[in-house]
Parts: sequence; C-alpha cells; structure tokens
Amino acid sequence: MKRNITKLLALLLAGAMLTGCASDTPSASSSDSAVTAEASSTTENQESAEGSAQSTTTSSQTTTTPAPALPTEEESAPADESEETPADSVTVESVQAPAESEEAPVQTSATTTTAATTTTTTEQQTPEEVPMEEKLIALTFDDGPNTTTTPQVLDVLEKYDITASFFLIGNNITDASAEVVKRAYDMGCEIHNHSKSHPYMNEMSVDEIIAEFQYTDNKVFEITGEHTGFFRPPYIAVSQDMLDNIDVPFIAGIGCNDWDPKVPADRRAKMILKQAKDGDVILLHDAEGNDLTVEALDTIIPELKAQGYRFVTVTELFNEKGIEISADDTKVYTNVLQKGQFG
Ligand SMILES: [Zn+2]
Repeated sequence: MKRNITKLLALLLAGAMLTGCASDTPSASSSDSAVTAEASSTTENQESAEGSAQSTTTSSQTTTTPAPALPTEEESAPADESEETPADSVTVESVQAPAESEEAPVQTSATTTTAATTTTTTEQQTPEEVPMEEKLIALTFDDGPNTTTTPQVLDVLEKYDITASFFLIGNNITDASAEVVKRAYDMGCEIHNHSKSHPYMNEMSVDEIIAEFQYTDNKVFEITGEHTGFFRPPYIAVSQDMLDNIDVPFIAGIGCNDWDPKVPADRRAKMILKQAKDGDVILLHDAEGNDLTVEALDTIIPELKAQGYRFVTVTELFNEKGIEISADDTKVYTNVLQKGQFG
C-alpha cells in the first residue's frame, strides 16, 4: 500500500505542474523557481514509470483517432512545455488512458442503435449520435480569489448560465475578495479548499497539514456558512498524512498548462477540448492576471455544450454519477468514475 502511494505520489507531483498549481505563479517569481526545482527532481524519480503509462496512452489514442489537424498542435504543445516542466504532459496523458476505455462502450452502443434503425447512415452515425447523450463535466478554478480575474471568470459563467467550483487559497481571502467569493456562492458555484498558503503539503507534519486546511475552511465558512467539501492539494502533491488528516475527497483534474503565460488561449482551449470526457473535472486557474484562461473559456464552454456536456459543480458530479462523497476516500479524482487512486 505504502509503495503504491509513494509511486502514485510521484505521478501526482509530476502532474502538479500541469495541473497547474505550479501555476499560482503567473506573477510570483520566487515561487516559480521553487516550483521548477521541485518539478525536475520529482520528474527524474518518476520518469520510467510515467514513460510506460504514456506510451500505453499514446498507442490507444492512435487507435481511436487517426486524427488529422488537432493532434499536430497538441503534440507540439507538450513538447514546448516539457522543456520547462516535463512532468506536465505526462500527467495529462496518464489521465486520459482510463477515461478512454469508458468512452468505447458508449460509442459501441450508439453504433448498434443506429444500425438497427437505419442501415443507410452506417458511416455517419458516430458524430451525430454521441452529442445526443448528456455528459457531465465540472469546471474548477484554483488559486483565487481576487478582485480582477475571478470576477471576469464569473462574468463568463453568467454569460453561459453555468456554474463552477472554486478552490481557494486562504491567504488570498481579503475583505474585498470575500465579496467576490460571496458573489460566486450566490450564483450557485461551490467554494472549496486549496490550502492556506499553497505549500508542498506532502512535506509537512500532520499539524501543519491540518492548519493549512483548517484556515481556509474557516475563512470560507465565514463567507458562505458552509464548510469546504473538497480539497485540491497544491501541486497535486499528496502524502499519506494528508489523506489521513484531511477528511474530504481530493480532486485533481485535466489541465492545459494554463498557469503558463506562454500558452495562448486557443491552445488552452484545444487541450481541454481534446481531453474532455464524461465525468471529468477540468482544472483551470483564476489567478490574478490569467486573462488567457478567461478568453479560452469563451471557446471551451460553448464547444462542450455543443458536444452535449452539462456543466455541474463537483458535488453534483459525484451525486449525479452515484459516487459517494466519503471522508475515507483515498482517491484523487480527475474523473469521478475513475477506478484507480489517481486515474
Ligand atoms: Zn494551485
């Protein structure tokens, strides 16, 4: 068990970069360097394990989609990023593998139905029928709140009449940003926990871990009257002590390196759209100044709606998929239907 956790931890640490909490840092230079250092040391340990996961994913992907245009850009994206944070692309892809197997049955049944109904349209049924089935997806935002980018994200959510879930850094909660949190809550968004100071909590003592979680939980309770029901570990770095002492489910998610200012809005959108699957959590950042993600949302949201997705909060995602929300849950969810601890 412990070995598993260590191994998975390594995967997670690698994923952290991508999942973007490395990200709080579009502007903070000091934490940038810390992140980079952590990332490279982590990556070395895990590279072999990750490598095999990645190759598996790649081959299954190739089988599913011999795809033309998108893949080219997608592949160049991780390549760029891998120079700085090699771990990022790994996590994204390792997350894809399990989800893909879940898609297969859906398409198969769609095909069968069509064949029975009309023999004529056999060739075109797939693209037509999949969108008809409602799929659920949860947009989530890390590293707020603030009084600039967070309100812009809320404006976009309002424009499309959807809700999302925000994972707050306690230290970012001020009197002014608390008003923004209140606005989000009143819109039907959920407010969850992303620690007090965004440290590598996997390196912390039990007391420190509890203090990080409690601070933000208390702050949120003061604003909304509700406790934070989910936890996103900073950098998706997880330890057994964290799992044992934070009694809400841990959430990761699919990302698009949106903490990196060099990743343009259209690429952010493409990366998310390429990965999105029923039951996914999408991990984005409303960190101050992250305008490119606000821009990307204007593509991501209408496109996913057109594909038949309904946007739900994290709690709704669990409830509607019939997954129990349990204090003892040791999974770190990227997809609510995932079978493994990390994917
Ligand atoms: Zn973060």
